[in-house]
Amino acid sequence: MSSIDHTHDAAATSWVEGADTHADFPVQNLPLGIFSTANRERRVGTAVGDSVLDLSGMAEDRLLPGNLRAALGAGTLNALFALSASDRISLRHAVFAHLTELSSRMEVLPHLYPAQACTMHLPFAIGDYTDFYVGIHHATNIGKQFRPDNPLLPNYKYVPIGYHGRASSVRLSGTPVVRPKGQQKPSYSEGPGYGPTYRLDYELELGVWIAGENALGEPVPIGKAASRIGGLCLLNDWSARDLQAWEYQPLGPFLAKNFLTSVSPWVITAEALAPFRVAQPPRPAGDPAPLPYLLDAADQAEGAFALTLETWIATQKMREAGIPPHRLGTGPATSMYWTVAQLVAHHTANGCNLMPGDLLGTGTISTPDTSGLGSLMELSQGGNSPVTLPDGEERSFLEDGDELILSARAARDGFRTIGFGLCSGVVEAAKV
Ligand code: CA
Repeated sequence: MSSIDHTHDAAATSWVEGADTHADFPVQNLPLGIFSTANRERRVGTAVGDSVLDLSGMAEDRLLPGNLRAALGAGTLNALFALSASDRISLRHAVFAHLTELSSRMEVLPHLYPAQACTMHLPFAIGDYTDFYVGIHHATNIGKQFRPDNPLLPNYKYVPIGYHGRASSVRLSGTPVVRPKGQQKPSYSEGPGYGPTYRLDYELELGVWIAGENALGEPVPIGKAASRIGGLCLLNDWSARDLQAWEYQPLGPFLAKNFLTSVSPWVITAEALAPFRVAQPPRPAGDPAPLPYLLDAADQAEGAFALTLETWIATQKMREAGIPPHRLGTGPATSMYWTVAQLVAHHTANGCNLMPGDLLGTGTISTPDTSGLGSLMELSQGGNSPVTLPDGEERSFLEDGDELILSARAARDGFRTIGFGLCSGVVEAAKV
């Protein structure tokens, strides 16, 4: 597991203007992403304050470790995350030194761009995307709507439930959500119809970017699974609840989910998150212990993350009236029944190979009470109890023009708070 070092020192400061006061990207964060500018093709960058540092250009100018030059010139992060964690730590140390030491300023400045002048791109060429279901309060809330007396199915506390999603429709934050069409069968209707979803929803999730590779047939033991966590992002698993209700049995989600999955542009690295590892909350009395292949003392001691997740909505009317986004919920990321390392160990337990740049979604993360519910399906209790917004509008599900925004911050006493940036999307009308 990544360890805490001088790059996490809360007293460290950067010569980059605005970095020390930036809510998300002080020099202790150093997230990785892919950006382009008007004159430059896709490059590897890091966010520092309101600037983006061109790491590909830094490598070309021999300002970064030479063994990283090829990976930093690749136009995606796949090659960098195929390298060892120690290579990424050496990159972090070099970038941290350049951004904190005033003597580096003159040679680094030509590689610094205003974030506003940069276009962000998907950080990885994503080979595969898997979505899990670890938010136990979400699973309980949704289960109650279908099975009030028995919300969790018998396998839930033994198996990290997941399904294979679709990688081709994973897109960067900011991509519009075109209202999908599909089959729906309302309870009052005898047969299904086809048309635009009338129950469009979001799902607040964390994304896990995979580092390294295990050969086909070789499981990753739970004790080594943390080394496969390259970093985290925000993930919105947009969902069409009416399509989902009609299609999900017996094989699970399909067209209700694969029309779009949004991710935030910056990879918050495992190294940056080292100070924010916390113990996995103990399971309630009476729950089964994880089977041995999912149980590791170090993972239980520090396999969870001290993150606060938030969800915001801004309708078209709100934006036009200058009303700021309304917070729909806030809660901790510790409401996960399984750690991210357990997801990796389980995913590979049968010998399935995970590749650099593969994406795992945790599943919707909700609080046990109503303060931090991760979907409108929960907030509106299946559409029966609409949410009232500051301008008097009501929402049971998302309407055209709505913008949905996810954010996350990692905070812990004694350390500089870091943020994930935003993951957002505006709903557009269905195509005719
Ligand atoms: Ca999901």
